[in-house]
Amino acid sequence: MQKITILGATGSIGESTLSVIEHNPEQFSVYALAAASNVDKMYQLCVKWQPEYAAMADVSAALLLEKKLNDSNVTTRVVAGLEGLCEVSSADAVDMVMAAIVGSPGLLPTMAAVKAGKRILLANKEALVMSGQFFIDAAKHYGAQILPVDSEHNAIFQCLSQSVQTDLGYCDLDANGVHSILLTGSGGPFRYSDIASLSDVTPEMAIAHPNWSMGPKISVDSATMMNKGLEFIEAKWLFNAKQEQLKVLIHPQSVIHSMVQYNDGSVIAQMGEPDMRTPIALSMSYPNRIPSGVKPINFTQLNELTFLAPDMARYPCLQLAIDACYTGQHATTAINAANEVSVEAFLNRQLKFTDIALINEAVMSKVCGLSTLDTQSLESLLELDKIARQYARELSIERS
Ligand code: NAD
Ligand code: MG
Repeated sequence: MQKITILGATGSIGESTLSVIEHNPEQFSVYALAAASNVDKMYQLCVKWQPEYAAMADVSAALLLEKKLNDSNVTTRVVAGLEGLCEVSSADAVDMVMAAIVGSPGLLPTMAAVKAGKRILLANKEALVMSGQFFIDAAKHYGAQILPVDSEHNAIFQCLSQSVQTDLGYCDLDANGVHSILLTGSGGPFRYSDIASLSDVTPEMAIAHPNWSMGPKISVDSATMMNKGLEFIEAKWLFNAKQEQLKVLIHPQSVIHSMVQYNDGSVIAQMGEPDMRTPIALSMSYPNRIPSGVKPINFTQLNELTFLAPDMARYPCLQLAIDACYTGQHATTAINAANEVSVEAFLNRQLKFTDIALINEAVMSKVCGLSTLDTQSLESLLELDKIARQYARELSIERS
């Protein structure tokens, strides 16, 4: 029986992970569930799953949860704050940790799991984008195994040979005959919209993704294609890819989840329904396969599969992230931080949809222009993240 801690248990990935466990009750049990502050959802999950621990980042939410659980005789122990999150992700009893907190708050709890040498099911791409080489090196140093959950990276992982799969972060794509990685994305809900109309996009319009059901932040990132930009950076780190080995391709139907093109002309693609339970299940069971609850593709019911190059005028965030990727760690930490702030301000109706890219660009160039830039430690990156966030907040207030 494998014991799992789910960071971000009340979210979309958390829900899909629990569904995979439900399909495989003899193989996996829930050790701990962790989330930010949603007491009612966490209470329901604790009643159903009876985990040993529940962790809430918000201390008052943790107290409320503890009371509700005590009142209903559920024995789950409640821990709180960052310390509580790190405790449940590094506990000796835990075999694997689903890293599915959204954004930068996921970094330290995920790092705690890395330092404890756990199997890391990595959904929280922002953590890797923020910390890059530190994350990869820490996984190697502490013997943690990273399994990509992001559907594209999970697809790419499946299209690569075992020698690459077992050497993530350090693998040599050239030596493995890889010509390039084709990172596919649907293009989001505004793929065919008039570019001039994008400044009027509302949060409701932006989070209505045509193919995938996801949390609000990643849904907005999909609409701006910042998500594909973050994934470009994620792919660089996971697959040790050179700039010319990474290409982004729009594939509106989301049937192919990414591809690897080899030097001999072969292209290997991974396909499936757009349902995160497929990559989640593989990350939990690798190198084996388990049922995930996802229905098989019915090929005779599929419409055409089409592909097009992304139009960078429509998706300026994608170009910014690609530029940041090979500029350096300071640029990727900065753009990730700026984007978290600008997307939140957009969701709170303080910014226009098109302001997201403007803020992200302004913050990135401000950070790149700083005379002293320390990226030599995780602490200095967290400091840089704070500075970028502060710039983004100031700029958001100016524009709102
Ligand atoms: P979501 O908004 O549905 O859920 C986010 C979860 O994070 C919630 O459980 C929330 O309580 C928790 N959280 C937020 N702030 C926290 C904090 N400070 N401390 C502790 N927990 C906190 O998001 P999601 O769609 O499930 O995405 C989660 C992560 O997975 C993101 O990084 C996203 O990019 C990545 N991802 C998601 C999908 C998807 O299909 N949803 C696909 C690929 C990657
Ligand atoms: Mg993805």
